[in-house]
Amino acid sequence: MGNYSFAMNKIPGAEACPALVLNADYRPLSYFPLSIWHWQSALKAAFMERVDIIAQYDREVHSPNVTLKLPSVIALRKFIKPPAKPAFTRFNLFLRDAFTCQYCGHRDDLTYDHVMPRRLGGRTTWQNIATACAPCNLRKGGRTLEQSGMHLRAHPRQPGSYELQEIGRSFPPNYLHDSWSDYLYWDAELEA
Ligand SMILES: [Zn+2]
Repeated sequence: MGNYSFAMNKIPGAEACPALVLNADYRPLSYFPLSIWHWQSALKAAFMERVDIIAQYDREVHSPNVTLKLPSVIALRKFIKPPAKPAFTRFNLFLRDAFTCQYCGHRDDLTYDHVMPRRLGGRTTWQNIATACAPCNLRKGGRTLEQSGMHLRAHPRQPGSYELQEIGRSFPPNYLHDSWSDYLYWDAELEA
């Protein structure tokens, strides 16, 4: 154990030095959102020997008895097994559908649609919720697919964790940070 009380104000630009977090198999713990930790969390975990430092920034931090480079990539020592079934969240739902309206293919103004309307007994489940843009959601209203004459690009279903991670890999992280920042850390469960 060491002293990891590094003073933030002595490290110009340290805020911009997040560490990429890898699982014990050296794959990112999560692709989307990309698993990154604040440099202080990364250093703390390294001191506690929970992670190995894989790569470092040139930037150094100083405490009274040690000088360290900030970690840029760290790997967990203990493998964290992803859950077989990802949580049913709005974020994961959008990810399953690649942030695309399942009716028209647009990527703006997304919400979610009960394929079988709630008033007809449709439940809020992976199998009955599809990503939809607001105009399509409005157009479909409280009608069934048949009644509305609308068609789904893919029928909603329960995705696997690995599948979601694979989809996440196709989204460049920088793009996401700029455009989807409101979603990156919002993982609230949808009402059941
Ligand atoms: Zn649409």
